[in-house]
Amino acid sequence: MSDPLLPAPRPRRGGVFIGRWFDIEFYLDASWFLIAAIVTYELSHAVFPTELPGRSPAVYLALGGGAAFLFFLSILLHELGHSLVSQRCGIRVPRITLLFVGGLAEIEREPDDAKSELKIALGGPAVSVALSILFAVAGFAFHAVGFDGLALVCRWLALTNFGLVVFNMIPGYPLDGGRVLRALIWAKTGRLRHATYISSRIGIGFSWLLIVGGVWALITPPHAWNGVIFLLIGFFLKSAADSGYANAVQRETLAGVRVRDLMSANPSVIPDTLPLNLAVDDFFLAGHYVAYPVCTADGDFRGLLRLDFLKEIPREKWPYTTAGDVVAEKSTEALRIGVNESAARAMRLLLAPELTRLAVIDDGKLVGIVTRHDILTFIEIHTELEA
Ligand SMILES: [Zn+2]
Repeated sequence: MSDPLLPAPRPRRGGVFIGRWFDIEFYLDASWFLIAAIVTYELSHAVFPTELPGRSPAVYLALGGGAAFLFFLSILLHELGHSLVSQRCGIRVPRITLLFVGGLAEIEREPDDAKSELKIALGGPAVSVALSILFAVAGFAFHAVGFDGLALVCRWLALTNFGLVVFNMIPGYPLDGGRVLRALIWAKTGRLRHATYISSRIGIGFSWLLIVGGVWALITPPHAWNGVIFLLIGFFLKSAADSGYANAVQRETLAGVRVRDLMSANPSVIPDTLPLNLAVDDFFLAGHYVAYPVCTADGDFRGLLRLDFLKEIPREKWPYTTAGDVVAEKSTEALRIGVNESAARAMRLLLAPELTRLAVIDDGKLVGIVTRHDILTFIEIHTELEA
């Protein structure tokens, strides 16, 4: 089971909410129920009956169900290990999800420095090592007092948690080991993009191994389930490694860039006194944007008039409603950004699906517009020029 720590550009939707602890929301993805059923079935029908023969099916089911529960709890605790360290480094973790391929802690953003990255990456495996030792000790204790079933469960959990550490410490990004490697190269060279390039290449190489191994397991009948699991984890890791590198490129390109460097100055502005019917004719139908800034005659920014705001107002009221009236009712905070703020912050705001343009403000006055397209074009031009 893998557990890439991924920055969450857009909050994930869906899944079954199980609770909120440490300011983190915990979810079970729909795909998790399938893997939980597979693990329980394998343990109670194959693994435990072989290791401890002569018990009733009900006992195997109880042992298998209990072991599967503690196994997934172990993964959650591993994710919690990453998350608590992350929070201590000042990076929020809005959500932890259990899914088919393992656990996923969604960190709000990438760490600012190699040291934080290293600490966060090691937080999870440290928990798994502790759990592995704990279960091993419990296994010996149960064995000593003659509880062989419980001893078996604990031994299996000790080995599984240890296996989780070994797998996740493979030095390919976005696995924990890949993050450790990236942090070390980053610390040594100061080049995050270069560090991400190396560790994500290893990650992609490893995901291909999993994919090839998965196909091979699929065509050798007794291990067909493992084949499916390998394939899914392989593809999941590959796409996460690709997007991790794209993130690093974006971050490096935007480092030190201000909103003023990539905004479009002198945008079309709707006067706040203009009635909506004229705003629609002169701007929305004549131009090709879905949102326009609304300003007073002095250039004071009042808000961003979005096409979807118009739909909320009956057409017959348009001639009697001004653009200023409409935006006055909407919160403008999320729609504006200061001219000297970082381009990276603008990009983060623009990742909200309903937001494509931000008003750029200098001292209360509108000075420009910045769009998702502006930023992506800037990144593309700068990466092309470097290549
Ligand atoms: Zn981890």
